[in-house]
Amino acid sequence: MSADRRPPDDGRRAELADNLAVLESRVRGACAAAGRDPAGLTTVVVTKTFPVTDVETLAELGVRDVGESRDQEARDKVAACARAAHGTAPTLLRWHFVGRLQTNKAGSVARYADVVHSVDRTRLVAALSRGAQAAGRTVRCLLQVSLDDDPARGGALVPDLPRLADAVAEAPGLELAGVMAVAPRDVDPRPAFDRLVQVSAEMRLRHPDATWVSAGMSGDLEEAVAAGATHLRVGGAVLGSRPPLG
Ligand SMILES: *Cc1c(COP(=O)(O)O)cnc(C)c1O
Repeated sequence: MSADRRPPDDGRRAELADNLAVLESRVRGACAAAGRDPAGLTTVVVTKTFPVTDVETLAELGVRDVGESRDQEARDKVAACARAAHGTAPTLLRWHFVGRLQTNKAGSVARYADVVHSVDRTRLVAALSRGAQAAGRTVRCLLQVSLDDDPARGGALVPDLPRLADAVAEAPGLELAGVMAVAPRDVDPRPAFDRLVQVSAEMRLRHPDATWVSAGMSGDLEEAVAAGATHLRVGGAVLGSRPPLG
């Protein structure tokens, strides 16, 4: 479904351009309020459930980082972009896998993802490493941290992070890039983001290059910027409301 090709749609292009402009001004405002340089922030536009034509349009509008959360859909879009655009904008995209990752999909994801934001258990590490090596690639990994101790939402518990970090750092084909979290639902996200930034600082004592902090979505990016996020993952604010994931 998501890889459907529709004819070019100037109305959609204008809508995406407008949404990107609004997002950029939100990010600039959040940076100004926090005394941060916007150059220190990367926004990943999460395109899950939206068609590959949107991904191509976003690439033409200057987006360089896109996020997906399901292997099959992501794989189809990566392939479609590669076919559609030899040497043009979509081939410059960096693909971020941000969703929950099943162990049996990890090898596939490692073949196209530049960054995996959702590494939360050691079994994934071996599978990602094998896939990356088989494809001759290096995959950057973020450890997803559970900030509400709700296992259903994914993420490693804080006490398990040091071992997981060492496993990624030692795995051929993988690079430990930092940490990621999704804020707990229906509460002030700030304490969770502050905790994530603190977890990041602790990890950097042993892994100084693991500097990325992926936090903040459409509804809470200002709080994430204030806390010190380096990567935002924004879907709805750019693409509009999406149908529930099936
Ligand atoms: C879908 C998704 C996002 C984007 O969420 P929005 O609220 O649409 O901005 C960010 N992170 C993860 C892990 C997601 O699955």
